[in-house]
Amino acid sequence: MSERIDTTCVQGGYQPGNGESRTPPIIQATTFKYTSSEQMSRLFDLSESGYFYTRLQNPTNDTVAAKICELEGGAAAMLTSSGQAANFFALFNICNAGDHIVASSAIYGGTFNLINVTMAKMGIECTFVSPDCTDEELEAAFRPNTKAVFGESIANPALIVLDFEKFATAAHNHGVPFIVDNTFPTPINCRPFEFGVDIVTHATTKYMDGHGSCVGGAIVDSGNFDWMAHADKFPGLTTPDDSYHGVTYAKDFGPAAYITKATAQLMRDFGSTPAPINSWIMGMHLESLALRMARHCENGQKVAEFLATDPRISWVNYPGLPSDKYHALAEKYMPNGTCGVISFGVPGGREKVSAFLDGLKMVSIATHVADARSCTLYPAGTTHRQLTEEQLEEAGVGIDLVRLSCGIENADDIIADLDQALATIN
Ligand SMILES: *Cc1c(COP(=O)(O)O)cnc(C)c1O
Repeated sequence: MSERIDTTCVQGGYQPGNGESRTPPIIQATTFKYTSSEQMSRLFDLSESGYFYTRLQNPTNDTVAAKICELEGGAAAMLTSSGQAANFFALFNICNAGDHIVASSAIYGGTFNLINVTMAKMGIECTFVSPDCTDEELEAAFRPNTKAVFGESIANPALIVLDFEKFATAAHNHGVPFIVDNTFPTPINCRPFEFGVDIVTHATTKYMDGHGSCVGGAIVDSGNFDWMAHADKFPGLTTPDDSYHGVTYAKDFGPAAYITKATAQLMRDFGSTPAPINSWIMGMHLESLALRMARHCENGQKVAEFLATDPRISWVNYPGLPSDKYHALAEKYMPNGTCGVISFGVPGGREKVSAFLDGLKMVSIATHVADARSCTLYPAGTTHRQLTEEQLEEAGVGIDLVRLSCGIENADDIIADLDQALATIN
């Protein structure tokens, strides 16, 4: 297929044979029939590939995963039922009780809770570091039992652009993979594998679906991390799996080892499988991802420029603004644009922020982001509610921070709505 990403959005993942449906079919089925129990046994042993039960794999899910895999330039990919499941599986696939993770502190609140609270209960500890840390500070976070480094390419909602090379170098010096949640820029604007990232995750719920219709996630493996070279750290991949008659993923599945293990063990046992219909809808929305991202970015830029010159706003974060602290990193890692999300400060305290949101007419208040419809959220009062003021500070989410997700409407209408809502509180 074409190397050009807008073509991959449309054509990737599915090439029909003669007389087959031009668009990907939906296989809305739980199970698959075989004529011989012998063959079914081989599927269960992973000695032959094929479908037997949708909790593990489904052709519709795999078609859409293949498109996302091509978009990221990866070796293997899988879909999950949510972005949370994707990040959990991505880490838990290589971390056991007693292991340790190094993560950027500027990440989505849900992922922070997953790592900081729930995975801690499972005996997996994490050291959070500032994305702006020095090499020495990053180095100091590692322990002998560290198994992964984690961050977000553009942090939700802080809009901090991650310095991939700094984190990749540290991860690889310690013989562990670097995992990045690439939800905000999407592969249209950022291809983390080109900068040393080993594994990418997505909340497909956001721009990939883009129409507020399907919660979902994805994991893509570059296939570049050499598990066997660090065999002692990753016994789950490099020693035989007793639950599959002794297959050794890293030896038997090559660049698909990590995704095969996540499918065979984690999907089998946790069952966070997307419904085929959700994957099918999301897959259709992927066809317009390149077009939509261009418009989201164009609108983001125009709205950020409007807010940056408005005296009623105390500050604006948007990596597309030349004055932004992360502009240089954005130029380096995502030169064609970042995303349509902007954060900015509304002075005057919690009540004033709330009154501003309440005054908006077109832009809706929604626990959502990266949607065709513009929406806004007050993180300190909602998604990041559980965090202490200190943790809010670390996550880059101040008490005055408003997150605005610019949709694909006409930018002038988004600006007019913000303008009239600001007028109601000033
Ligand atoms: C929304 C989001 C998630 C979680 O995805 P869900 O589909 O809501 O579970 C993870 N990471 C980022 C960056 C997100 O924006």
